[in-house]
Order: sequence, then C-alpha cells, then structure tokens
Amino acid sequence: MSGLTKSPWIIHYDASSCNGCDIEVLACLTPLYDVERFGILNTGNPKHADIFVVTGSVNEQNRQVIKNIYDQMPKPNVVIGVGICACSGGVFKECYNVAGGVGQVIPVDVYVPGCSVRPEQIIDGVVKALGILEEKRAAFAAESKKGTDTGANADAKKDGGN
Ligand code: SF4
Repeated sequence: MSGLTKSPWIIHYDASSCNGCDIEVLACLTPLYDVERFGILNTGNPKHADIFVVTGSVNEQNRQVIKNIYDQMPKPNVVIGVGICACSGGVFKECYNVAGGVGQVIPVDVYVPGCSVRPEQIIDGVVKALGILEEKRAAFAAESKKGTDTGANADAKKDGGN
C-alpha cells in the first residue's frame, strides 16, 4: 500500500455551519472553479477520502460524528478547518453549546479562516493540505519499509540465515 497514490478525494462535513462556508465549498466544484479537473473529488464515504473538510464549529451534537468520520478515514490523511467557525468557533464561540473549533476533537492540518471563506482560499487550503499529505505519505512509506526490513532481518536471524 505504501507505493499507492491516487487523486485526492475529499469528504465534506457541515458541523454546525450557517451554510455560508458550505456554499463556497460547493462553488469549488462548479465549472467556474472546477477542482475536479485536478482529480479532486467530493465523496460521501470517509473510507474513500484523503482530505476531511469541516465547516462550522464543534458542539455536543456533532462532536462524536466528526470523530467517527475521522476514525473511518484511511491513514495518512489531512484535515482542513474551513471558515472561522471551524477554526475557533467564530461568532458562536461564546454560545452555551459550542465547544470551539474542529481542533477540539481531531488534529487539524490546515486552517482556512474567513467568514465566509472565498473559493480561492479553500482551493489554496487544499493545495497546502496536499503538500502535507505528500509528506505524511512519504513518512508512512519510510516507516512501513523500516518495519518490513526489520521484520525480514528478524526472520533471517531466526532462520540462521545471513
Ligand atoms: S465562518 Fe461565517 S460563513 Fe462560515 S459557517 Fe461560520 S458564520 Fe457561517
């Protein structure tokens, strides 16, 4: 699996957004911005996704949903918090039921602040995330190779080989 590469697929979750940021995420998929021409697809299945895009803030209703989606995604992956609500809770930060940004629940790799965020900023965030994903994949491949080599050496020693 370490040598496997493919176009980055995204899963988008609206945590508790006012829908302002969600509309901008959708705009990225329209012919005007057309991120699909780079192979970037929006999938509904976390098991197929490399990039988790979250809009809106964390509350008690969605905390576990965010975690469940993240846990189902293959590793390595990257998480993007889109909009100031996803970054810190934004204007809803002081609400009684708001815990804050997505970083309260899962590790976030890229924050894209704004209210609402422009499609260009979202695409810029995705490009940054792709760079981080590449680094993570390289580290994962190196770690897997090290594990395989160590395992092979241990087997050779056990068998009395050289
Ligand atoms: S950042 Fe602004 S536009 Fe985006 S979900 Fe929050 S309030 Fe809505």
